[in-house]
Amino acid sequence: MDVNAYLEERLSKLHDNGNYRIFADLERQAGNFPRATRYREDGTVQDVTVWCSNDYLGMGQHDKVVGAMQDVIAKCGAGAGGTRNISGTNHYHVLLERELADLHAKEAALIFTSGYVSNWAALGTLASQVPGMIVYSDSLNHASMIEGIRHSRCEKRIFKHNDYEDLERQMAADDPDAPKMVAFESVYSMDGDIAPIKEICDVADKFGALTYLDEVHAVGMYGPRGGGVAEREGLMDRLTIIEGTLGKAFGVMGGYITGSKTVVDFVRSFASGFIFTTALPPALAAGATASIKHLKESRFEREAHKQRVAQVRAALDKRGIPHMENPSHIVPVMVGDAKKCKWISDILLDTYGVYVQPINYPTVPVGTERLRFTPTPLHTAEDIEHLANAINDLWSQCALARAVA
Ligand SMILES: *Cc1c(COP(=O)(O)O)cnc(C)c1O
Repeated sequence: MDVNAYLEERLSKLHDNGNYRIFADLERQAGNFPRATRYREDGTVQDVTVWCSNDYLGMGQHDKVVGAMQDVIAKCGAGAGGTRNISGTNHYHVLLERELADLHAKEAALIFTSGYVSNWAALGTLASQVPGMIVYSDSLNHASMIEGIRHSRCEKRIFKHNDYEDLERQMAADDPDAPKMVAFESVYSMDGDIAPIKEICDVADKFGALTYLDEVHAVGMYGPRGGGVAEREGLMDRLTIIEGTLGKAFGVMGGYITGSKTVVDFVRSFASGFIFTTALPPALAAGATASIKHLKESRFEREAHKQRVAQVRAALDKRGIPHMENPSHIVPVMVGDAKKCKWISDILLDTYGVYVQPINYPTVPVGTERLRFTPTPLHTAEDIEHLANAINDLWSQCALARAVA
């Protein structure tokens, strides 16, 4: 077999379907977020405004975060120098884990090199090591959870998205003595909808199941101290494990789980994806700690963020641009056609300096292609007007349907 020809053929199919991913080549500007410099393929550069960053609060350039990272680079150097077990545990990792356990009011926390790895390793380890474990997984769970569960080769059931009655039916049909775990998210990042956490925990309790909640899109963002939706709703103690990322609202990089001493110690002791990899750079841990600490005390960013989201929605409504209603900070503008979605985002970038990545299949179902806007506290009123006017122009050019007021 000519492997190279096969690979080329598969890539060319991606091009044909409009699913080939092209990365925008950006240089972020500290102190000037959400502005960035875009390097075009023709060698020219362009100033753009980023409208699709997961650095939701601009913490990636916050003075305290950047300062902590610079201090610790100067103090400890660049890398951790080993796995956690073999010389790589730095004091800044220990401080970060304490900070995270406190954030979610849990006994312990464990950090990983990304949120993806934390889901993959924690779910994979618990589901494979506990004999007979059945995992109940929300149908819209993130790829990292799906891969972790798949890798464990445990029994799995997929319940309808956010449907705790379907979950209950499926749990009732299984062996009452089998160990069980329910895995779900709080904020789902494509539609911006939020899970009924209490109801799902009620069902899980009825069947004695562990609960695993991914709060990746909610940590730093919701709750009085930025502990996520479960904190806002007073439900953190109902969850066996709360998982999060340091790479989105906290603005740095890395992932984590929090839970009881026993559960966290178990993952620490048995998860290959934790054990056999170099620890995060100490400076990164220090930056994340500074970010978490700041957002525990300051509500300013969360309040300003809510206002900006409301302003973007109002500006779109004024022009009849349809966007999906949801209770979160994510503003999906529905296009419903892969080619038009890509075309609009190309023109927004090239002509208007507005950068938003088109979201097409397989990330979302065919027919629900969209532009996913993530306003931040650092977008100005002028940015919002410019964005809404640009979309308005393109909506007319593409003859797309308007929302009825
Ligand atoms: C982004 C994401 C992750 C992975 O987090 P990273 O830190 O980016 O690896 C996990 N779960 C969900 C729901 C996500 O959207």
